[in-house]
Amino acid sequence: MPSGICPECDGEVRVSPDVEIGDFVTCPECDVELEVIEVDPLEFEVASELEEDSLEEDEEEW
Ligand SMILES: [Zn+2]
Repeated sequence: MPSGICPECDGEVRVSPDVEIGDFVTCPECDVELEVIEVDPLEFEVASELEEDSLEEDEEEW
């Protein structure tokens, strides 16, 4: 079973043998959502951070 390194915690993340670029997996160590950006060698990018960076942060002053 292929595995890669989580960019968030450096833990080992195992994926199914037929994983493809653009697939999402969850790190078993830190529970972060990762997107597969490369399969040979296996590389991941943190996916969940993207959603938090919204342009509406100004409204937090309330
Ligand atoms: Zn992790």
